[in-house]
Amino acid sequence: MASGFIDKARISVRAGNGGNGAVSFHREKYIAAGGPDGGDGGDGGSIIVQVDDNMSTLMDFRYKRKYTAENGADGQSRRKSGRDGASLTIRVPRGTLIRDAETNEIIRDMSASEPYVLCRGGKGGWGNTHFATPTRQVPRFAKSGLPGESHDVVLELKLLADVGLVGFPNVGKSTLLSVVSKARPKIANYHFTTLYPNLGVVYVEEGVSFVMADIPGIIEGAAEGAGLGHDFLRHIDRCRLLVHVVDVSSSEGRDPVADFDAINAELVGYSAQLASRPQIVVANKTDIMEDDALLDSLRAHVEALGYPLLTMSAAAHEGTRELVNLVAQKLSELPPVTVYEPEYVPRPPKIDVTTPLDITVEDGTYIVEGPWLQRLMSNVNFSDYESRMFFDKMLRESGLFARLEEMGIQDGDIVSMYNLEFEYQH
Ligand code: GDP
Ligand code: MG
Repeated sequence: MASGFIDKARISVRAGNGGNGAVSFHREKYIAAGGPDGGDGGDGGSIIVQVDDNMSTLMDFRYKRKYTAENGADGQSRRKSGRDGASLTIRVPRGTLIRDAETNEIIRDMSASEPYVLCRGGKGGWGNTHFATPTRQVPRFAKSGLPGESHDVVLELKLLADVGLVGFPNVGKSTLLSVVSKARPKIANYHFTTLYPNLGVVYVEEGVSFVMADIPGIIEGAAEGAGLGHDFLRHIDRCRLLVHVVDVSSSEGRDPVADFDAINAELVGYSAQLASRPQIVVANKTDIMEDDALLDSLRAHVEALGYPLLTMSAAAHEGTRELVNLVAQKLSELPPVTVYEPEYVPRPPKIDVTTPLDITVEDGTYIVEGPWLQRLMSNVNFSDYESRMFFDKMLRESGLFARLEEMGIQDGDIVSMYNLEFEYQH
């Protein structure tokens, strides 16, 4: 795309890993061997996404594509826990969709201000202090921290606006927005002046307002990717209503009816759904209109299609109040701005369980470790039944229980896996 505008970005995010637990024993003068005092590893920091209303594009993500939160620090002797890793907050413009990069499914619609935890940090491992029991007074083991979650995601900006302005370049869209709201979009007498979408809040009366979006001009062929428009149309996907601005002044030699049809054809080419949104047509630049016939034929054309038509001179502030009132009235009858439901369902991780796990026995405790187990455990939510069943199935498939039996495990012996310990039951 020619402009510096970025409304879609692919990034990789990774939460911090948990720190390792420490193996350590209390040492004091005259005491040969004290009790275990190895501290726990700190938790890894999470990746948090937060709306920032000072941002209007995803430009920052063009330069930085990898985001990593801090790891938890390892535990130390004297029961000193490792520090938790700091979480990393990623700021996005309001209305940004977070999608799974592989499936394109929506993970989260960042429309509300509530922060979203995209990746959870890995839990820190326990120090050996945790593993002392009456029968196991000298636990010489501690647990490794679990890896943090990671995800490749696509950020996509879909502005949160009630009303989208559409129309050819230079017809007066930015002028209209600047007259009815406090937004100060660039206004200039040449095409493609608007390269960034602008949002303005339009106050109608006490307690009634709406948000209007001025998107860069749509040009013919845009829907086939020939121009700028196609990329920008997604910004108005959520709009409840379109205000279609047409220049009827003939100052640029435009044919209003042909313009109107061309823009609508672009909308259809982009999305039938967007094209079917209610439209209000405004004939602009009436202050310098030379030929009433142009307005008359536009009126006949759009009214035959069932659209209301208003006349306006945005520059002279004429007809703008009437437009605002009509928009407010129509909006009051329309459903609220679309908020997209999450589609993404985390899939069980693809894990190859064929590599044998390491099993060591310490004081009747079977300590089980291995890279795939670590990965599996960082993905299992142990408070969820289905998740636990999946975990159990993977362990069974790996042949772990058969091996434990071969090693002579008895019912009631402890099996210890990272931050999980359980009594073995046949
Ligand atoms: P956009 O590209 O659709 O956003 O158009 P702009 O708002 O940037 O306006 C393009 C040019 O038309 C600018 O020079 C404006 O001053 C001018 N313009 C906009 N509205 C009117 C109007 O109602 N009357 C006149 N005479 N000029 C206008
Ligand atoms: Mg403009």
